[in-house]
Amino acid sequence: MLKTYSLKHSLDVGKFLYAYLAVLNSIIRDIWDTIEWEELPIEGKKQKRLIPHYKKDRVMKSILRNRYLENWEYANHWIDSALKTAYAILSSWRKNYVKGKRKQNCPVVKRPFVRVKQTLIKLEGDKLRITIKPYEYLYIDLSKRYFKLGSRIGEPILTMTQIHLPVEVGNNDTCSDETKNIHIGWDSNKFSLDGFSPQTGWIAIGLKELHTAHIAYDNKRRRINKIASKKKVIGKRIKAKYSSREKNRTKQILHEITNEIASMGGMHGFEDLDKKGMLKKRRKWNRELSHTDWKTIVEFTSYKSSTELVDPYHTSKDCSRCGCTNKDLNRTIFQCVNKDCGLKINRQPNAAINIYLKMEGLSHDIGWFDENVVRGFTQTGAELKETDELVRSLYDTMKPQFYGGLLNAT
Ligand SMILES: [Zn+2]
Repeated sequence: MLKTYSLKHSLDVGKFLYAYLAVLNSIIRDIWDTIEWEELPIEGKKQKRLIPHYKKDRVMKSILRNRYLENWEYANHWIDSALKTAYAILSSWRKNYVKGKRKQNCPVVKRPFVRVKQTLIKLEGDKLRITIKPYEYLYIDLSKRYFKLGSRIGEPILTMTQIHLPVEVGNNDTCSDETKNIHIGWDSNKFSLDGFSPQTGWIAIGLKELHTAHIAYDNKRRRINKIASKKKVIGKRIKAKYSSREKNRTKQILHEITNEIASMGGMHGFEDLDKKGMLKKRRKWNRELSHTDWKTIVEFTSYKSSTELVDPYHTSKDCSRCGCTNKDLNRTIFQCVNKDCGLKINRQPNAAINIYLKMEGLSHDIGWFDENVVRGFTQTGAELKETDELVRSLYDTMKPQFYGGLLNAT
């Protein structure tokens, strides 16, 4: 699958882009001039509809190609690209015109851009080489990209300030071979995303920066609203500016978070928030990460790694060790109601372990838990003889690994 990412560039491409734009608009005009309007009757009305037909045969294309190559100083492929783009623009105009969405006017492209054909690009490490003239190249620096370059790159669009680059987004190519086999279940919480896998134990990714960004913009918005109540036009403009800034900033943070997630394992389990309408009510006490942010995290992770959605039913209420249900959850520690189990564990890893089990299709099993979660402490088995002993040991073993500068442990 190809997904398009946008990157800014600071190359001087104005002269070239305007030359291409002029040719593109001229070709569109030339094709436009070949239109023959077919009169079609409209059912039940006296007026007739005019349906356009323009020339798109090989001869026409060859005539146009030769005509524009004559005084063209850049690589020939750009004329082919302009031809292809011109026909694409007219075809989209025609479709919309027939639907009644466009008028009978020749389309004009106003903003300069080029569609770069495969034959004109080459990837050289972190640089994308674009052939402008034979043996004359542009180099786009991709080293500051926030996405992984896959095995395949589609046809990029180059504008005055940006390059829109379609890249292959495969599975499992964001993490190393050792981490590929690690499957992690993720639970969302107010200050952290909490993950669990037997190999990594409890992982916490901090969300402080995300909250700070949202809060900072909330405060700004409040101040702007005050201005807007007095000066309407200016207020509106400032509001639009800040809302797009917030979106960009949030998106950037969510990319950092999901890069982190994707680098930790090859498969990631998340709760399917669409599955239960009642979920919001049930987990309100716990879930402070907004629905939109959570959905974006799941979406971005799916571009960078493999993901699986699990049914959120009882992921917080069930004991991750024995499977008993505890309805009293208003505290930071989950305590199992089953006297024979007696698990006492932070509620974040409890939910993350439950999500992990669902993702792997495993049912609750005390033996599995003691082997995979408590780990070191069960080697002799002695610690498990007394319930209290297990409680204390778990506190020591289940300290989370905190990741990224993103976290502010609370
Ligand atoms: Zn239990």
